[in-house]
Amino acid sequence: MTQTQPLHARPSPSRTRLAGLTLAAALLAAAPGAWAQAAGGPFTLAPLPYASDALEPAIDKATMELHHGKHHQAYVNNLNNAIAGDAKLSQLTLEELVAKAGKHPAAVRNNAGGHWNHTFFWNIMGPAEKSGTPSPELLKAINDEFGSLDAFKAAFSKAGLSRFGSGWVWLIVDKKGKLVITTTPNQDNPLMDVAETRGTPVLGNDLWEHAYYLKYNNRRGDYLGAWWQVVNWDAVSRHYADAVDHKDGKRGKKK
Ligand code: MN
Repeated sequence: MTQTQPLHARPSPSRTRLAGLTLAAALLAAAPGAWAQAAGGPFTLAPLPYASDALEPAIDKATMELHHGKHHQAYVNNLNNAIAGDAKLSQLTLEELVAKAGKHPAAVRNNAGGHWNHTFFWNIMGPAEKSGTPSPELLKAINDEFGSLDAFKAAFSKAGLSRFGSGWVWLIVDKKGKLVITTTPNQDNPLMDVAETRGTPVLGNDLWEHAYYLKYNNRRGDYLGAWWQVVNWDAVSRHYADAVDHKDGKRGKKK
């Protein structure tokens, strides 16, 4: 298992130093591939936290390799390009860029969203045999809000099917601590100032055709149904616990 970079991580000092070396020195010092990332800017693509065929048959290996290695990599590269030369934007973490997406150029909004969303996405999935179950706390909240886990899954899939064009479907904790299903267009997400419904994502699925077209063609509903096999409920339960803790963004203040 490879530990992925936390979403809130600031650009690594070691990479910043590396970028200052000459090309020859950097090539000698860096592992293959590391140089190209170091030269490109502060954001890098973490490896998948499992093998690219680990989500078969729900998500096929070819889709995973293209989706992670080409699509996600492009969001990372384009984000680095979009903030290059802007001293202010270059200082911000990914979460800070996302939070004020509406105040940034479209290229920053789209690619910071793309980087955040995909990093989140890889980590709320896993091999079907390790899918697990929702924590008791999360299950209770799902039951309270949607009636049952199956009813929740049906509502989530229906929302994903109803989103026209490209986007994402989310389960979020809103500022009152309530579970809400919502969708966002393009690479927006519910953390963004521009989101219609804001909150902290605990689960999300990618509705772009690049996420399913090779295997499912136009059958988005089949993809949405099969995807439940590879949801990592331990990861989702951790996101839920964190989101409830931080729901008002005012931890530590008295009521
Ligand atoms: Mn995608």
